[in-house]
Amino acid sequence: MDTPPSPSPVSSPGGGGGEDCCVKVAVHVRPLIADEKAQGCKDCVTVVPGKPQVQIGTHSFTFDHVYGSTGSPSTAMFEECVAPLVDGLFQGYNATVLAYGQTGSGKTYTMGTGFKDGYQAGIIPQVMSVLFGKIETLKHQTEFQLHVSFIEILKEEVRDLLDPSCLHKAESPNGHSGKVNLPGKPPIQIRESSNGVITLAGSTEVTVGSFKEMAAYLEQGSLSRATGSTNMNNQSSRSHAIFTITVEQMRKTNPLFAGDGSPNDGMNDEYLCAKLHLVDLAGSERAKRTGSDGLRFKEGIHINKGLLALGNVISALGDEKKRKEGLHVPYRDSKLTRLLQDSLGGNSRTCMIACISPADINAEETLNTLKYANRARNIQNKPIVNRDPMSSEMLKMRQQLEYLQAELCARGGFSSDEVQVLKERIAWLEATNEDLCRELHVYRSRCAAVDPREIDAQDICSVKGEGLKRSLCSLEASDYQMVETVQSDAREIDEEVAKEWEHTLLQSTMDKELHELNRRLEEKESEMKLVGGFDTAALKQHFGKKIMEMEDEKRVVQQERDRLLAEIAILSAGSDGHAQKLQDAHSQKLKTLETQILDLKKKQESQVQLLKQKHKSDEAAKKLQEEIQSIKAQKVQLQHRMKQEAEQFRQWKASREKELLQLRKEGRRNEYERHKLQAINQRQKMVLQRKTEEAAVATKRLKELLEGRKSSPRDNGLSNGHVTNGQSNEKSLHRWLDHELEVMVNIHEVRFEYEKQSQVRTALGEELAVLRQVDELASKGITPPKGKNGFARATSMSPNARMSRIASLESMLSISSNSLVAMASQLSEAEERERSLTSRGRWNQLRSMGEAKSLLQHMFHSLGDARCQMWEKDMEIKEIKEQFKELVNLLRQSETRRKEIEKELRLREQAVAIALATAASVGLISKHS
Ligand code: ADP
Ligand code: MG
Repeated sequence: MDTPPSPSPVSSPGGGGGEDCCVKVAVHVRPLIADEKAQGCKDCVTVVPGKPQVQIGTHSFTFDHVYGSTGSPSTAMFEECVAPLVDGLFQGYNATVLAYGQTGSGKTYTMGTGFKDGYQAGIIPQVMSVLFGKIETLKHQTEFQLHVSFIEILKEEVRDLLDPSCLHKAESPNGHSGKVNLPGKPPIQIRESSNGVITLAGSTEVTVGSFKEMAAYLEQGSLSRATGSTNMNNQSSRSHAIFTITVEQMRKTNPLFAGDGSPNDGMNDEYLCAKLHLVDLAGSERAKRTGSDGLRFKEGIHINKGLLALGNVISALGDEKKRKEGLHVPYRDSKLTRLLQDSLGGNSRTCMIACISPADINAEETLNTLKYANRARNIQNKPIVNRDPMSSEMLKMRQQLEYLQAELCARGGFSSDEVQVLKERIAWLEATNEDLCRELHVYRSRCAAVDPREIDAQDICSVKGEGLKRSLCSLEASDYQMVETVQSDAREIDEEVAKEWEHTLLQSTMDKELHELNRRLEEKESEMKLVGGFDTAALKQHFGKKIMEMEDEKRVVQQERDRLLAEIAILSAGSDGHAQKLQDAHSQKLKTLETQILDLKKKQESQVQLLKQKHKSDEAAKKLQEEIQSIKAQKVQLQHRMKQEAEQFRQWKASREKELLQLRKEGRRNEYERHKLQAINQRQKMVLQRKTEEAAVATKRLKELLEGRKSSPRDNGLSNGHVTNGQSNEKSLHRWLDHELEVMVNIHEVRFEYEKQSQVRTALGEELAVLRQVDELASKGITPPKGKNGFARATSMSPNARMSRIASLESMLSISSNSLVAMASQLSEAEERERSLTSRGRWNQLRSMGEAKSLLQHMFHSLGDARCQMWEKDMEIKEIKEQFKELVNLLRQSETRRKEIEKELRLREQAVAIALATAASVGLISKHS
């Protein structure tokens, strides 16, 4: 015993007590999950083999351990990180295991908080099994008592997950109602005892005696906590869950004052109590800045209050300078940090497990997680063995005794009487202590026995949440529809053109022929009109009648003549003067009659002549009529032929088109697809490259801004606090403010680009996933379901086209991925800077009212400027909108006009067709008649 034992009651004879011990930090890289693979995510996290080092982009971090990926296997995590802490429990050391990381990074998986049906892989189930295994081996010499509690912190409210009254509520399908405590039940409060121990007043602490029992409580609690899915919006991603196991132990064998007097003999410990907190933290992701959902944003800030405070606590504790200055650690800023006060920088052995996703889309959060976790490595804890106060007192006395004995030996002697008295006194004290301890233990067990709760093993169905469904971004959709030009074969076109030309030529010659026929027909018809202009039959009748009349007249005249001749003969026989006179009169009369007859004869002759002529013209008309008929027949024939030809051509054209379609569908189509795809690929790539370049410029600028100049006005051209010139001071303050604002705008820009790029990436990823799926199915000879989104297009592609599209998508994805990681890196830096500024206080730099006023003035001007500019832009936008509206109207009008014209055209075509058809049928009819 060379060194005097420490007088501190916290020192443990077993060693390790009160020792400085850093928070251990392990990283757990989970594999890419199905959802990420489906999106075509790239693994952007590298683990340096054989070293606990993680690289992402240009950043590199070192931890105590790295599991998963190319690091140590995840199965080694428990043995290396948690088993020592469980061992420590038996020595009386508190311990904490914290799982940190964004939602979906594997916290619950790693911790095993979502315990189900004896699932053994997580840390908590392994802790339980090791714990009970150890207890089994030690139970003959030590009495153990285990308690568990399971709480959740949601929106700065502590919920008791083992509260039996909440059990029934957890059955409700949304899994949310469980969070409300019964109205009669007082809310759970965090209390701090006089010796600085934090306790939860009002939470259920149940005694457990077996693995099975503890597992049942874990299951019950996790059911009441979560909906069991990784949906971003579910409760489990927004709340912190703390499963606490308290181990109390009482050594059964207790040799009074061990003979060998060894202070290292563990048997001297009477009562030890240690707590193990197993913490599944809320998702560490930042609330989306661009989210339009204001409520979620608020909630996001709210639930992150614990993580924010935890970050600040870690920062305060991790900064050696600050720690030495005795800077205030803001434990009281949140319920979480208050509850974990001992775990961070206090009486606990603590291990943090930073869970990360390797996917490029999560690069920013992964970086944030790694930075956060890296800082935690600097935290120094001071774990101590937790004894019962009485045991501590006894130990103290024992140590005192040892010390005195040593002293005694050294001095060479008290009187044996004195020693005897002292020894007796010690023995008495120890006996009393022993009694008291026992009593205490009895009370404790009684106390615990009062509250054995039954577990209703109920079938509470966990609501399986659906995975996050990404909505396809329409950003590049237009690109897919472009380039509809058909790249047909040139020869084909020639052939087609020739055929078409031939057709039109034929049609035009026939048209000419028809025209000629029509002309001739017209001629003949007009001729005919000239010839047969009057009714021949009527004429004939008329002439016939006329001739008959004349004949009659002639006969009458001849009779008259004959009568007169006879009279003359009678008269001449009588031969008298009177008779002579009568004879003369008769002769006169006869003469006129003769001329009359002659006249009539002439007339009759001319009539006969006329009739003859009429007959001739009749002949000519008949001939003409015949000619007309033949022309008409020719015309009909021609029209018929024309129709036939047109029909043939139409048929040929239709079959040609069908053939072409078929060709396109098959062999030639590939060519066409290839051209089209090439154009799409090239354009998309160009657009992507342009976007990436823009993003790179913004990112570079942000990097320069973040690195180049410091964020404090004092660092910006001012001698440290020593202000000589008021004006230059003001100027530099203004410059600083401008710089700050520029940083802000730049962050916004990069963030904007980042969101855009993510959307592009998602769209590319989804297309790639579909193509790969189709490709895989096709290789197995299965036709993929066409109904599914995007499948029809992918299926109709030729295998070659699909391959080239896949290759192109992959290359674009990798460009996008790199750009995303680069942006994420700067955004994470900016976030870091913002955090440090917030905690330090952006305005702490201002030292006088004058400075503040000047800065305010400057800010006022800046803001005024910005508002005016905004107003102007608003006006511009309004004008542009007006113009746009007008253009849209114009477009609409022209569209309706176009439709009208098209309709008209159609009608005309129909009319022409009808006219043609009727002309043909008329021709036929007239031919038949
Ligand atoms: P968190 O609790 O951080 O939100 P989860 O633990 O719910 O994340 O994990 C998200 C998804 O990833 C789950 O489907 C889970 O099964 C899976 N997962 C997490 N870690 C791993 C891992 N190491 N190996 C395989 N799958 C994992
Ligand atoms: Mg979880």
